[in-house]
Amino acid sequence: MTESPSPADPPKTALNAIVAQRIEESPGLAVVRVVPDGWTLPEFKPGQFAVLGLPGAARRCIVSDLEEDDVPAPDKLIKRAYSIASSSVAREYLEFYIVLVPSGELTPRLFALEPGERVWLSPKISGVFTLNEVPPDKHVVFIGTGTGLAPYMSMLRTHLVCGSGPRFGVLHGARHSWDLGYRGELMTLQRLCNNFTYIPTISRASEEAAPWGGASGYIQDLWRSDPLRSRWGFRPSPQDTHMFLCGNPSMIEDMVEMLAEDGFREHKPRQPGEVHVERYW
Ligand SMILES: Cc1cc2nc3c(=O)[nH]c(=O)nc-3n(C[C@H](O)[C@H](O)[C@H](O)COP(=O)(O)OP(=O)(O)OC[C@H]3O[C@@H](n4cnc5c(N)ncnc54)[C@H](O)[C@@H]3O)c2cc1C
Repeated sequence: MTESPSPADPPKTALNAIVAQRIEESPGLAVVRVVPDGWTLPEFKPGQFAVLGLPGAARRCIVSDLEEDDVPAPDKLIKRAYSIASSSVAREYLEFYIVLVPSGELTPRLFALEPGERVWLSPKISGVFTLNEVPPDKHVVFIGTGTGLAPYMSMLRTHLVCGSGPRFGVLHGARHSWDLGYRGELMTLQRLCNNFTYIPTISRASEEAAPWGGASGYIQDLWRSDPLRSRWGFRPSPQDTHMFLCGNPSMIEDMVEMLAEDGFREHKPRQPGEVHVERYW
């Protein structure tokens, strides 16, 4: 028999968290910090995701598309998964890195929230896209497009130890330089840690406001150019390196194929491999 909630229990869909801060990285791209209201965040592993939710009645930001068909019911809680970008050792808030999908159901509502407003945050944190299956002596390459950088920020903020030992590399792809979130933090880490490499690439260099001196093209093009050999002195191989892929599913598909040519296998529960994958849609 299921117990009926006592009148004092809030409903499971109550907006149980508060937006503490929203940092606009560029139009339609934000770092959002959420604090649970009156409850403690559970422990989690860097790379895992939480779920955010808002009711259909929540207002949409003005730059989103009008919702004409399939308008969600006002009391329906719209929920979506978001990788946690903050460290698992500092659990004052959860940080998320979110892009606005103008035609989407949830993100236009999330982007209308001001600091102090309420949101639903799943009390449970899930996911297997973590460093758990990576032997401690292996190097790690994090490859991501857009907000696919989020889980890597949590892993680096928690696990990166500067100095000798395994190397960490981040290859991040975005359309423009202003869409390369966390660039300042990653450039600083690279300056401080000789075992950390950060290589961004942009796919629309011709639209830059000022000349762009970095890599241009897609992540797949960057990988073909063997960018880590000049920094690490060797090309990563399945014997020494684990690869992480996160974000756009077609980037992931291409990269899995390209990495297979070098002998990397996708990690699956019953078939251990060196390529770990998180698809956002
Ligand atoms: C495990 C997991 C972790 C995720 N973590 C993040 C995260 O850290 N940050 C984040 O912004 N999103 C993340 N997502 C995607 C997120 O759950 C939503 O799908 C996204 O915010 C769109 O929601 P929506 O209701 O506005 O759009 P919907 O109405 O659900 O429309 C979905 C469509 O939006 C597009 N889309 C979805 N996600 C993205 C994206 N990140 N970039 C560009 N286009 C997208 C796709 O075309 C998709 O078909 C994650 C998804 C999964 C499964």
